[in-house]
Amino acid sequence: MSKRVMNPATRVAAVALATAGLGASLVAGAGSAFAAEGKAVVPTAATASAAVAAQAETQAHLAAQVKAAAAKKTVAVKATAVKATATKKAPAWVKPVSSYTLSASFNQGGAMWAHKHSGQDFAVPVGTPVKAAGAGTVVKAGPYGGGDGPAYGNAIVIKHANGKYSQYAHLSKIQVKIGQKVGAGQRIALSGNTGNSSGPHLHFEIRTTPNYGSAVNPAAFLRAHGVGI
Ligand SMILES: [Zn+2]
Repeated sequence: MSKRVMNPATRVAAVALATAGLGASLVAGAGSAFAAEGKAVVPTAATASAAVAAQAETQAHLAAQVKAAAAKKTVAVKATAVKATATKKAPAWVKPVSSYTLSASFNQGGAMWAHKHSGQDFAVPVGTPVKAAGAGTVVKAGPYGGGDGPAYGNAIVIKHANGKYSQYAHLSKIQVKIGQKVGAGQRIALSGNTGNSSGPHLHFEIRTTPNYGSAVNPAAFLRAHGVGI
């Protein structure tokens, strides 16, 4: 902001000055009438023009002030709009890893699994940050799949408000505890290659219960929540 922007006290003074300026003009006008009768014309005229100049300057100041106030208001409105947009855009669901190569998909058959593949695999180097796909509460976190079985290695299960559970497996390092609340996109672990794993990757499931055997298609679930993988 420029120094020309007046504080309220200055504004009162400016208004007073403007009023005084008007008064001075009137008085000067009366003085001029007198001057025409033979008194000193020049000083009176000078006073009049000084008053007009003062008035003009005051008006310029007021105009600048109004302009500045308007600009300030626009900035405030814009800032509010940006904030509202930012709040609106906070995603409820995110990808569990940012950068990956999709490997085994849901229901895929193969020698690796006793039945069909129960999740979506994201091939990532060991140590890749793993994020909670959605907000929720950690209900399982530990080795042996957090209780689901040794094939999962170190694993986490999060309970979500919509009644679904997300599971993250083969982790190298678990960074949350059972009972902990997490936000969507919050880092919960580092990926790894623990358990029955053919190479470094994140195994990701969406379940209808906390336990093994209740998995649904995680890619379809994410897609239905606006997250393409
Ligand atoms: Zn898998």
